[in-house]
Amino acid sequence: MKMKLGLLYGGKSAEHNVSLQTAKAVTAALDLNKFDVYPVYISIDGTWTEGEKLDAPAEHIDELTIKGNGGTEHVLSMLSKGKYDVVFPLLHGPNGEDGTVQGLLEVLNVPYVGNGVLASSAGMDKVIMKNVFAQAGLKQVGYTHMTRTEWETNKIPSCEMIEREIGWPCFVKPANLGSSVGISKCQNKDELIDAMEEAFQFDRKVIIEEGVNAREIEVGILGNDHPACSVIGEIVPKKDFYDYKAKYEDADTALIIPAEITADQKKEMESLAIRAFRSLDCSGLVRADFFLTESGEFLINEVNTMPGFTPFSMFPLLWKEAGVEYPQLIEKMIDLAIERHTEKQ
Ligand code: ADP
Ligand code: MG
Ligand code: MG
Repeated sequence: MKMKLGLLYGGKSAEHNVSLQTAKAVTAALDLNKFDVYPVYISIDGTWTEGEKLDAPAEHIDELTIKGNGGTEHVLSMLSKGKYDVVFPLLHGPNGEDGTVQGLLEVLNVPYVGNGVLASSAGMDKVIMKNVFAQAGLKQVGYTHMTRTEWETNKIPSCEMIEREIGWPCFVKPANLGSSVGISKCQNKDELIDAMEEAFQFDRKVIIEEGVNAREIEVGILGNDHPACSVIGEIVPKKDFYDYKAKYEDADTALIIPAEITADQKKEMESLAIRAFRSLDCSGLVRADFFLTESGEFLINEVNTMPGFTPFSMFPLLWKEAGVEYPQLIEKMIDLAIERHTEKQ
């Protein structure tokens, strides 16, 4: 019997287009002898559309977005009637990677790929995530945060506080986003004001971090109660930092796999990554991203609960190097979804 897979993609998030690119690659990789694949497109304004069952890998992502029938209510009714054996929420950012869709699928008792409600929501909010990491004894850069209301009533004192407590350079980020959207690096108060205004376009909460001059080293983790690490990789952005354009539009960001680190550093980073995974109660997959400072210290930057997932993204490339090809990786993630669902019953 083929497994019925609902693939949720697009999404009501600034990372909508990233998901579109990835959905095409995932549908092309899925073995249609094993899976009946139903694409479910979520538009940028949040309307859900169920596409027809795929009879061939989608050639163009546009086809995936237009060949649909039924709206949100139709999809919700299909989900609640148990049409899909498993759902793959291939969604990045708010309203998809943040526990909201995961909560919906929990309530409807549908197994789904990737992290559960708690890890997804805690992992989406950079402030909460860092608080949990601090509690778990993981080293990281200094940080503070502010809501839009606090900022708007106190701009100058806030800048002074940030200068005093964080210093220059600092990084300003919307608390709940990814793909570097809305992130700026600031060297002085004028840049800070612009960066805060920019970040508040995307979120009501903003995190401000100490900027470090460090290598960016990343590892993939797969598993539920027995998480395993992939090969470790390094990102070398050509730009000042790894911004949205460097991630998705420039071909010249180098991914070095495996990263050139010592055997001891590898062991240390794997153990820190697993600690991070457990601290947020992750399941399925994450990509754990670290800074390796000039003094040789690993600082955790973040975990991504639904990392970039095109065949050329870091997470699949790290697993490829570990011997797990892209189609196998997708199947492994689906198996882990079923395993978690079964164990919970
Ligand atoms: P996202 O979730 O959008 O990927 P990140 O926190 O990973 O956000 O930031 C994006 C990029 O910005 C990082 O990959 C890194 O290049 C740079 N960056 C972020 N925070 C810092 C920091 N504190 N110091 C130095 N570089 C940083
Ligand atoms: Mg991220
Ligand atoms: Mg990142």
